[in-house]
Amino acid sequence: SNIFFRPIEKINAVIESYPKGIAGFKRYLEIIDTEPEIADAKNAVELKSVRGDIRFENVSFGYEENRRILNNISLSINPGETVAFVGPSGAGKTTICSLLPRFYEVEEGRITVDGVDIREVQLESLRRHIGIVQQDVFLFSGTIKENIAYGDLTATDEQIWDAARRASLEELLLTLPEGIDTIIGERGVKLSGGQKQRLSIARMFLKNPPILILDEATSALDTETEALIQKSLAELSVGRTTLVIAHRLTTIKNADRILVVNADGIAEQGNHEELVAAGGIYSRLHQVQYSHS
Ligand code: ATP
Repeated sequence: SNIFFRPIEKINAVIESYPKGIAGFKRYLEIIDTEPEIADAKNAVELKSVRGDIRFENVSFGYEENRRILNNISLSINPGETVAFVGPSGAGKTTICSLLPRFYEVEEGRITVDGVDIREVQLESLRRHIGIVQQDVFLFSGTIKENIAYGDLTATDEQIWDAARRASLEELLLTLPEGIDTIIGERGVKLSGGQKQRLSIARMFLKNPPILILDEATSALDTETEALIQKSLAELSVGRTTLVIAHRLTTIKNADRILVVNADGIAEQGNHEELVAAGGIYSRLHQVQYSHS
């Protein structure tokens, strides 16, 4: 399920005003000012540079009262590490990842980034360091450049092209008469699902956050597009702490660590070989789900 739906939708309303220029951008700031989803603590500090050390310490959470989804979860992710969350549908993989950008507040326990409790930092500064790539990419009508820049008014054309190149989007852009100034959406060029995903990856290369959350697509793309996206994502995650809600065997196999989430919480962890050899939940899941590949 797509936990990021609500927050992103909120951002949409805001970002859509961006093509109207600075006035629109100011309105964006106003909305942010007047409608904080979660208020900053009174003495909240700005999270400046981030190494990307992430810890969940005895975290419990539920969306509704009396229905715990996460019960006393503890985990620790090292700077630059790629961890893949796997497990049955509904186990809470997305929920775990959505607590990190504080889309929801933990009920008990705490989450830290570089040792700092995320409730003690300014929300905006926390989210500045976290990039999210999900399957439903939000694009607004405007140019490719504006969509890659995503509100970053300082981005230069050179930076946009560089991000596009790293996201395997350059070839497409070179076929368009107006390149990055091509308008997309209802009034312009329509992008395929795979192209939209690469555009969202380009956004992340430009944003350059030390922490990444990848909500891996479950929908099938053609093999070539799939390979391009995998390659771009692999490059994107280099040197960043990466949490992947994983569905693809190659992603899972390449992860530094696999976290198996089930109703009991983090049931197993280790890399692919270790977990297969352990003969537990993962090895059974692996046999059933991936025996064909
Ligand atoms: P999937 O692999 O299917 O995406 P998941 O492991 O990511 O599953 P979550 O999406 O985190 O699981 O969902 C965990 C539980 O929380 C499920 O029972 C789900 O129904 C519930 N849930 C998810 N989002 C909400 C929400 N916004 N409000 C209430 N319950 C929710």
